[in-house]
Amino acid sequence: MIRLWKHSFLFQLSHLVLPTAGFVSLPTSIYRHAVPRVTGAIAMALGNDNPFNCDDTISPMVKTVAPSKTIEVFTLTQEMKARGEKVVSLCVGEPDFQPPPAVIEATIAAAQEGNTKYTGVTGTMDLRKAICADLLRRKNLEYAPADILIGNGAKQAVYQAVLAVVRPGDEVIIPTPYWPSYPEIVRLAGGVPVIVETTVEEEFLLTAEKLRGGLTDRTRMLIFCNPSNPTGAVHSKERCEELAAVLSEEGGKGKGVWVLADEIYERITYDTPHVAFATMPGMFERTMTVNGFSKSHAMTGYRLGYLAATPIIIKAATIIQGQITSCASSISQAAGLAALNVSDAEMQTSFDIMRQKRDFVVKRLQEMPGLTTAVPEGAFYVFPDVSTHYGKTAPDGTVIGGATDLCLYLLRVHSVALVTGEGFGYPKGIRLSYAASMEAITEALEELEKCLVSLK
Ligand code: PMP
Repeated sequence: MIRLWKHSFLFQLSHLVLPTAGFVSLPTSIYRHAVPRVTGAIAMALGNDNPFNCDDTISPMVKTVAPSKTIEVFTLTQEMKARGEKVVSLCVGEPDFQPPPAVIEATIAAAQEGNTKYTGVTGTMDLRKAICADLLRRKNLEYAPADILIGNGAKQAVYQAVLAVVRPGDEVIIPTPYWPSYPEIVRLAGGVPVIVETTVEEEFLLTAEKLRGGLTDRTRMLIFCNPSNPTGAVHSKERCEELAAVLSEEGGKGKGVWVLADEIYERITYDTPHVAFATMPGMFERTMTVNGFSKSHAMTGYRLGYLAATPIIIKAATIIQGQITSCASSISQAAGLAALNVSDAEMQTSFDIMRQKRDFVVKRLQEMPGLTTAVPEGAFYVFPDVSTHYGKTAPDGTVIGGATDLCLYLLRVHSVALVTGEGFGYPKGIRLSYAASMEAITEALEELEKCLVSLK
């Protein structure tokens, strides 16, 4: 009897805490039998397609997480290429240009000069100082080196910022379409993603009203990606002020909410100037600014990004990073320092090319039947709403039920790789990355048009 009671108590306990962090230790029999069922049910309810749902080898925590859709498409494309099949890919989220020459030179010099050892967890003082100077000069943001934590890419910065403040059961507002890692990172931290939809008609901009509508007494954080991956939407200064006002409303539910401002694309903007969310009235102390070198300096493989925030957050995130990866690569940090010394004029050359590609892509998409396209003001993505084509049939009899069907059909029949909107929480759209050669862009768009015209 007592045994039974114990087991049922532990089962309930596991029900409560295991989906979040798995931090109690349970008898193996419970893990084997009860936990997989519990977490499997959670994963099913979440609608994710985690391959471990029916397997009890893997930790229950992993089962609540969906695999990255963008990486999935990329892998499929790589496999097709490896088989010798031709694929035109507009699905990768990285610039097609090389890092500035000074970055490459600094990389080689760092290795040759023996700059190859661990650095402190937070990163070298030189790089943190340079980041502060850069944020002050370009973004009017006043951080001290102690407010900066350098890590292995902005992804790690996002993860640690979430882990630093999100408690089991806390809600985190994530506007759609979103970068696919956000909800999964929130789940890994034990939080609950609260999805607030923005639409193509709204140019994928979050309104004060929608933000207010998503806030509850349990809201802990807003994740605000500006410029946005996957839409390229840029929230103007006025729009950011409106959002900040909601978070400051007297008696409102936004008062104690943290803002994770993912500004990794801030250097790539077109006509709407980007403002740092931390410069909005009353937002500095509450905003965690994420940025990095992957997109602006084409340094994706260097794995270098950072978190800038109030010291208590940086201390918490540093403890976490100290137990996960220690420091970012010393060589990458030396290269990052060189990257921040590249002149604005030199950087602008690549951004001007991006703008030309953006203009071309938008014009071509606007010529295609049944698409609604919001003009992206930043990053290198465009996210047309293709939903008027759903339910149609392709010449080979394939029924295009939704975005994933369309992307798979495009890949199979037209050899074009794009990313399904389902991965971004917006199944009406698909994402095209125009950080590719003009040749690839032109060909992919021709094939997309042929495909759409052929659907009946
Ligand atoms: N945030 C957003 C919105 C991104 O698109 C990406 C990269 N795809 C990241 C963060 C992570 O970038 P990093 O390479 O610096 O980890």
